[in-house]
Amino acid sequence: MIGVLVMGTLLTLMAWQNAVNVVTEEDQARFEQETSDSLELIQERMQVYGQVLRGVKGPFVASDSVSREEFRAYTEELDLEQTYPGILGIAYALKLQPAQLEQHIASVRAEGFPQYSVSPEGERDAYSAILFIEPFRGNNLNAFGFDMYSERVRREAMDQARVSGTLALSGRVSLVQDADRGPIAGVLLYLPLYEGEMTGTEIDTDELLGWVYAPFSMDILMEGIQLDGSRIALTIYDGADMSTDQRLYSSLNEPARVEAQPFTRTEQIEIGQRTWTVSFSADGSFIQPHENTEPQAVLSVGALFTVLMAVLTWALASGRERAEARAAEMNSELRETEFRWKSALSGAGHGVWDWNNLTGDVHFNTEWKSMLGYAEDEIRNEFSEWRRLVHPLDLERAEAAVTDFLSGKTRNFSLEHRLKCRDGSWRWILGRGAIISRTMDGKPARTIGTHTDIHLQKSLELALSESDQRFRGAFESAAVGMALVGLAGEWLEVNQALLDMLQYDEDELLKLTFQEITHPDDLELDLQHMEALTAGRIPSYQMEKRYFCKDGSVIWVVLSGSMVRGGNGDPLHYIAQIENITERKALQQRVAHQASHDELTGLPNRRLLQERLAQTLALSRRHKRSFALMFIDIDHFKHVNDEYGHDVGDDLLKWFAEQLSAVVRTSDTLARQGGDEFVLLLSEISAPDDAELAARKVFSAIRDEFDTGLSKLKVSISIGIAIFDPQAPASAQDLLQRADSALYQVKRSGRNNFRFFQQGDELSGR
Ligand code: GH3
Ligand code: MG
Repeated sequence: MIGVLVMGTLLTLMAWQNAVNVVTEEDQARFEQETSDSLELIQERMQVYGQVLRGVKGPFVASDSVSREEFRAYTEELDLEQTYPGILGIAYALKLQPAQLEQHIASVRAEGFPQYSVSPEGERDAYSAILFIEPFRGNNLNAFGFDMYSERVRREAMDQARVSGTLALSGRVSLVQDADRGPIAGVLLYLPLYEGEMTGTEIDTDELLGWVYAPFSMDILMEGIQLDGSRIALTIYDGADMSTDQRLYSSLNEPARVEAQPFTRTEQIEIGQRTWTVSFSADGSFIQPHENTEPQAVLSVGALFTVLMAVLTWALASGRERAEARAAEMNSELRETEFRWKSALSGAGHGVWDWNNLTGDVHFNTEWKSMLGYAEDEIRNEFSEWRRLVHPLDLERAEAAVTDFLSGKTRNFSLEHRLKCRDGSWRWILGRGAIISRTMDGKPARTIGTHTDIHLQKSLELALSESDQRFRGAFESAAVGMALVGLAGEWLEVNQALLDMLQYDEDELLKLTFQEITHPDDLELDLQHMEALTAGRIPSYQMEKRYFCKDGSVIWVVLSGSMVRGGNGDPLHYIAQIENITERKALQQRVAHQASHDELTGLPNRRLLQERLAQTLALSRRHKRSFALMFIDIDHFKHVNDEYGHDVGDDLLKWFAEQLSAVVRTSDTLARQGGDEFVLLLSEISAPDDAELAARKVFSAIRDEFDTGLSKLKVSISIGIAIFDPQAPASAQDLLQRADSALYQVKRSGRNNFRFFQQGDELSGR
């Protein structure tokens, strides 16, 4: 019995060990799959980036020169940050002979970069210079004029690209773009450009003009490839040597010793003529917890029956059978998975097709047929059936998509096309597929995919682009100014009416921001409105503001601003409607001026005087200050009218107003009260002496004689003065009364003089 017990225990342990191994194999398979996916993604991504460079090279090849503007416009369309993570910029670097250096620097300086030079300085056999780099801002500016040829690692890749005529990837460099973050590992991908490509003659690799290239940050590049939750660590080395100084990237801060890990895989891949060693590893946490329960169950169950002979028998007999059963089980699981997968697709309304690429047989599922209105037996299981139903206008494109996909030219199969329904109508269909098995020599053997009805989306899309065109038409031909303005205030799109209004050409205005042409006094309020708009506190706003036109003149506009947001509510840009109201504004200003000013002399009238007086009074009360009010009346003015006529009287009044204005401080108010009576409001005086001084100045202002046209005339005046005393504050009415009374006293006592109001004056007043 002891023997059986010992034997049983041993066998149980063996069975347990076996179960653990099975689980590990499953985990191993999963590890293989996930790492293969990552490898494929890395290669795929680098291929796409190579493609981007080829695209950027296009404009160079197509025209004999590319301007900074064109380069910018083209690269902007790529929307690098969003679409191609990891690319820090797209640039063009020139190759220069020492003799060309001086002339090159001069021409870039003349372009408007007076500080430009090629760095680092010093004499070398050959130079290169980064001429265009986009986005042209931030750390990318450090790269402008940099001679990459002066640095070994870059130079090697540049030469490699030059002699091979195709993409070449550099080894690890610390990027100029990252100068302020400290050295961060990056690589550069170069594509050479030759003279022959520009001129259409034969290409000679010695005739290199420059390189289109892109710097990458390895960290950002890998962000999308290593999924956040992944338990697999990924490290990339440049070349075959897995040493720390060759490390380009690691998902771990301190890469673990790979050999010590239960799951490891190391592969070499070829990218841009360069070898990368990619090493994956995962520790025990990669084993999925639920799969761990199986060995545990074996262990406890085994322990329970160890005492029984039956266990021994079972254990001895079952080895082979269990393996076979497991195989059968896995096979049926696989079939079931395929079945479940196909039914899930069908259930979701996808037509599924299963294509034997060797025989040309295609099986279309029932949903595929019913999606287009066909009965089960109306579609034969042949590839030609699909071809027969494709819209003639889509056929060429569709066939090319299939051919390119099967030949490996495109990695993903995705095709929008129209198929003919049984009732003769056309429906938009999205086709997608994957090659699921290949022949020994790598040809596609079986391809499975879906056809999805996207008719509704497609119709909406087409309608949308139509309405977009309609909107564009309205935008372009609108009589008022319209613009799309970016979040930083840059003009994104502007219509002709706005350009006419501001006198700019389109390309000139698009280089400016609205801030740059806004009158400084109106800027703050506008920015406040925009801030409220962006924050969603207001749906729109309207304000009157001033812009500077190209010639420096100022126009008044009514601006109506609102905001366009993306699907997730993020602000995209502003819409501005801008109406020129300069003329209306000028008229308003004229009317307002007329209402408050005297027509004949242009001086403030009685109404404005009342206002200013009330203000001065309030201020003086608050600050306990004095001020003076002066009534000035021309002596015997009637005579002038009588003797020389009313017109000469008018001229005298105008002349008089001018003479007085010349001696009045801008803070004071000289108004025409009516007839030949003027009022001078001295808004602040420290003592009555100040008022006396002012009165004397008024007298001195009319020392010269007035020329009637016939003769010279000595003009004399009388002045009555009232002082506001903060210790005994009087009302505006009282002050006017007092000045008038003092004036009356002067008139009575012989004119041509001034007088301060004194107690008792008003008693003998008018
Ligand atoms: P005094 O020395 O007392 O001030 O005598 P005066 O002749 O100046 O008479 P007073 O100031 O009382 O009258 C002003 C005259 O000015 C009365 C009116 O005919 C004349 N007058 C009022 N408004 C105008 C005007 O707009 N143009 C002209 N030419 N004369 C005006
Ligand atoms: Mg008078």
